[in-house]
Amino acid sequence: LTRLSRQVVTLMELRRVNRQLRQHLEEREWYEQQMQDYQRLLELHNEELSTQLGVDPLTGLSSRRAFTVALEKTLSQAAMEQQPVALALIDIDHFKAINDQYGHPVGDKVLSEFGHLLRRLVPLNAIPARHGGEEFVLLLPGMDLDRATRETEALCRAVREAPLSQSLTVSIGVAAWRVGESTAELYARADAALYAAKRGGRDRVMVAD
Ligand code: GH3
Ligand code: MG
Ligand code: MG
Repeated sequence: LTRLSRQVVTLMELRRVNRQLRQHLEEREWYEQQMQDYQRLLELHNEELSTQLGVDPLTGLSSRRAFTVALEKTLSQAAMEQQPVALALIDIDHFKAINDQYGHPVGDKVLSEFGHLLRRLVPLNAIPARHGGEEFVLLLPGMDLDRATRETEALCRAVREAPLSQSLTVSIGVAAWRVGESTAELYARADAALYAAKRGGRDRVMVAD
């Protein structure tokens, strides 16, 4: 009878411990869920803040909207001071293959690395921005077509040789702004040159007519 009563006591104790454990587990899950919600909220706030500051959250470069403002301002200043300005459109070659092979998150990481690399490689007064997707734009104040071509060719080489987590090459179309030309016309000429660089085999710079 004594043994039996001991067993009953042990069993009751086990049940109590089991209940406590389950409760701890549920509390932990609740805390983890709270942490996840909090983390997501923080990310949303950061993205919102980046947008307000004109920064692309993935690459840390200027956003397209902020770049448009900088472009207009630079062009009107260049017109006043009779200084040259060049615009380069930069598109990563075969980027889709990275997404297809390794998945979208790896693609995002590569874009982020590329953004930081671009920031480091361009001249100090240049304005790089993410134009959208895997396409970037670079404004080169004070540079004529020859100088801009040399700069972007050096950039193209540097990207090819950069120790990124995935090797990349870029195609670049470069155009020098003509006084009186609209931003749309300037973009269109740079874009045509970029298209020619792609058609010509990629990993190269083409100069706009
Ligand atoms: P091309 O040499 O002709 O430029 O080939 P491509 O594969 O780079 O060009 P394409 O336009 O066919 O594909 C661009 C790819 O970029 C497709 C799209 O899913 C991917 N992409 C665009 N934006 C993002 C992004 O923010 N993150 C990731 N991971 N991929 C993106
Ligand atoms: Mg591309
Ligand atoms: Mg593209």
